[in-house]
Amino acid sequence: MAYTVPKLDDYSQETVAREANKLVAALEVESESVHTEEEWKVFRDRWLSRKNGIKSQLNDLWLKAAPTEHKRHIGQAVNLLVSKIEHDVESRHRYVQTYLGFLGAASGIAKAVHELSLERQPIDITLPGIRRPLGAEHPVLRTMNEITGVFRAMGYSVAEGPEIESDYYNFEALNFPPNHPARDTQDTIFVAGQEKKPQRDRLLLRTHTSPVQIRAMLRQPPPIRVVVPGKVHRADTADATHSPIFHQVEGLAVDTDITFCDLKGTLDHAMKALFGSDVKTRFYPSFFPFTEPSADVQVTCFKCGGKGCRLCKMSGWIELLGCGMVDPNVFKFVESNGYDARKISGFAFGMGVERITMLKYGIDDIQLFYQGDVRFLEQFA
Ligand SMILES: [Zn+2]
Repeated sequence: MAYTVPKLDDYSQETVAREANKLVAALEVESESVHTEEEWKVFRDRWLSRKNGIKSQLNDLWLKAAPTEHKRHIGQAVNLLVSKIEHDVESRHRYVQTYLGFLGAASGIAKAVHELSLERQPIDITLPGIRRPLGAEHPVLRTMNEITGVFRAMGYSVAEGPEIESDYYNFEALNFPPNHPARDTQDTIFVAGQEKKPQRDRLLLRTHTSPVQIRAMLRQPPPIRVVVPGKVHRADTADATHSPIFHQVEGLAVDTDITFCDLKGTLDHAMKALFGSDVKTRFYPSFFPFTEPSADVQVTCFKCGGKGCRLCKMSGWIELLGCGMVDPNVFKFVESNGYDARKISGFAFGMGVERITMLKYGIDDIQLFYQGDVRFLEQFA
């Protein structure tokens, strides 16, 4: 006989406790017999349904029927029983779901074992094996590692910094004063809701790896030689040559008696190490707020070797990076750590990794780097 809630003969503590035990025993026995989602729904409705479920019977037959003087302890008993019912129904549901998931997995395994069994599918040992495709280094990372490696071999150490940067490190300490027009050349993505902060504390996504120059000089007194690979962000619309996210490698060398000759020699060596020993370099005047003098570095075209072709727009030269001698104004921001512009000097340079990778491998669309298309990527395996 299925359990039903009895009317109480009397409302004494003993009677209530005895009947409550019977209800709990019935609940537990029924719960244990539930093994499927359908069984569980029947079980749930039988105990919790508003229409004559056992929970509502408890309310009607025990609580509502109780005389006023017993309402208090009957109410407590009913509350306890109802939460026990709700708990058991809920936990049985979790059990059923786990149990069904386990059964599903077990039958899947059994099926797979069956299909693989020797009787059904004799093994042909002359068939070629299954080869796992090997992953490859992403071309942008590969180029970034190559550039970093060239400078590490010259004694540079690797430095990194945050991608979310403050206005101070990204602009001010690099000699971009507030409202300076040079800021407009770097279409900056600002973090929202910063208006209440002083301008130098406002956060943005770094537009170049150059803030790490300042961070590195604050960490380490001169002499310093660091190379800084990293991701940078600009509010550029994506097209064949622009991407809102790209990568740069930055370099900084500061010591006593560092001259423009050292800069030329270092970069000439680096370009030969990256692109081959017959590559030539030349330096063109340029402008960056944090270097003075500044230069753009051009290398002879990898494709035509300097004769002139479509890649180099018939000039024979390709512009690859920016560089210059560290502006004494920049040293003022790190003077407290031993960077006295009267005693030391240095140079800095920076290059776009995607651009170099595109030139090196003849890739004509920067978007290919970010689309994750295996057919593109596996060519670099
Ligand atoms: Zn060319």
